[in-house]
Amino acid sequence: MSISKFQAVLSSKCPRCRTGKMFSGSAYGLSRQKMHEHCPHCGFKFEIEPGYFYAAMYVSYAFSVGEVLCMALVTALATKSESPWTYIIVLFTTIVLFAPFNYRYSRLVLLHYLSPKVSYNPKYAEVKNKL
Ligand SMILES: [Zn+2]
Repeated sequence: MSISKFQAVLSSKCPRCRTGKMFSGSAYGLSRQKMHEHCPHCGFKFEIEPGYFYAAMYVSYAFSVGEVLCMALVTALATKSESPWTYIIVLFTTIVLFAPFNYRYSRLVLLHYLSPKVSYNPKYAEVKNKL
């Protein structure tokens, strides 16, 4: 039973086994979401190099730009407002609301799509904790 890369990203699975969860807690749950250091299923170390997740900032930045542009457009079309405060308030709220989403999915996209060193290996999906 293997899931596609896209499904693995959506359900926050490990990029190597696509079975273990990368995060504990949900992005918008009451308890704070936390990324595991190692995959609970196959033991894969998510931070493959020291400071690897600095690169996730660029992915997160791209997400933020997309979200802010969409919200600015929706606000402009819906309110036809010319006041900068309308946009400042709406866009600030957008950034805050999307922060947990960006934190989680920038790391997932980085590991699943932008890391040539990391690839799915079905052999890790089968056996638990066999390193
Ligand atoms: Zn794994």
